[in-house]
Amino acid sequence: MYYSSGNYEAFARPKKPDGVDSKSAYIIGSGLAALSAACYLVRDGQMEGSRVHVLEKDSVPGGACDGMYYTSVGYVMRGGREMDNHFECMWDLFRSIPSIETEGVSVLDEYYWLNKADPNFSLCRATEKQGQDAHTDKKFGLSDKACSQLMKLYLTANEELYNKKITDVFDDEVLNSNFWLYWRTMFAFENWHSALEMKLYMQRFVHHIGGLPDFTALRFTKYNQYESMILPMIKYLESFGVQFQRKLFR
Ligand SMILES: Cc1cc2nc3c(=O)[nH]c(=O)nc-3n(C[C@H](O)[C@H](O)[C@H](O)COP(=O)(O)OP(=O)(O)OC[C@H]3O[C@@H](n4cnc5c(N)ncnc54)[C@H](O)[C@@H]3O)c2cc1C
Repeated sequence: MYYSSGNYEAFARPKKPDGVDSKSAYIIGSGLAALSAACYLVRDGQMEGSRVHVLEKDSVPGGACDGMYYTSVGYVMRGGREMDNHFECMWDLFRSIPSIETEGVSVLDEYYWLNKADPNFSLCRATEKQGQDAHTDKKFGLSDKACSQLMKLYLTANEELYNKKITDVFDDEVLNSNFWLYWRTMFAFENWHSALEMKLYMQRFVHHIGGLPDFTALRFTKYNQYESMILPMIKYLESFGVQFQRKLFR
C-alpha cells in the first residue's frame, strides 16, 4: 500500500512484478511481521502461495501474539494488544483477510463494527488506596514548565538524547503529573528508561493524547488477538497454499 497525498495510490492494485513467478520467499518466524510479509507477498506481490515458506521455530505460530487452545475455554493468549486508528499497514491488510467467524466479512470489518458499537473506554482510569478512584478526572495536570519540557524533548535531535534517561529531560513537574501516570501505564515506561525511546513514542503516538485519560484511543478485537488476527491470517495464507514448517533457521 502506498499512502501519499490522499488515498489515490492506497487503493490501486499493484501491477504484477516482473519475474515473480520464478522467485521464492523464505520468511523466518511466524509473528505478526512475518505473517504480514507473507500476506503482502501473495496479495500485492502476487507471488504463488506455494512459493512462500514460513519457517517457525516454536510449536505455536504468532510469536509475541501466540495463543494456546484449551478445550473448555477456547484460545487464550498472554496479554491484550492495544491497537489504534493509525496502524496504517495493518488496517490495509485486514481489509483483505476474511474473518473466520462470519462469512463474507473481513477482519477489518469485524474490528470496526465492534468498536463502533461497543467503543473502548474506562470510567475509572486510576485507583489508589486499595481500589478507590484516584480522581484524575481526565485532567493532564501539566504546568507550563512541564509542557515546555515535553515540547523540548519532542524537538530535540535524536543524537542529543543518546545515553540519556527520562529523568535527565523531565523533572517532577512532568513526573508527578497525571499525564505521566496515563502515559507510563499505557506504554509501560519507567522513569529510568531511555529519553530517546520516550521521544520516539511521543512522535509515534501523539494522536493518542486525547484518549490517554480514558483509553478511548484504543481499538480491540472481539476475542483475543490470536483468535481474531493471527488465525485468520494463517487461514488466508493457507488458502493460497503458503507452506508452514516448524524449523529453527540458523
Ligand atoms: C505482553 C505484550 C504486550 C504487548 N502489547 C502491545 C500493545 O498493546 N500494542 C501493540 O501494538 N503491541 C504490543 N506488543 C508488541 C507486539 O505484540 C509485538 O511488537 C509484535 O507482536 C511483534 O511481532 P514480530 O512479528 O515483529 O515479532 P515476534 O512476534 O517476536 O515474532 C518473531 C517470531 O520469529 C520466530 N523466530 C525467531 N528466530 C527464529 C529462527 N531463527 N528460526 C525460526 N523462527 C524464529 C519466533 O519464535 C517468533 O515466533 C506487546 C507485546 C507483548 C509481549
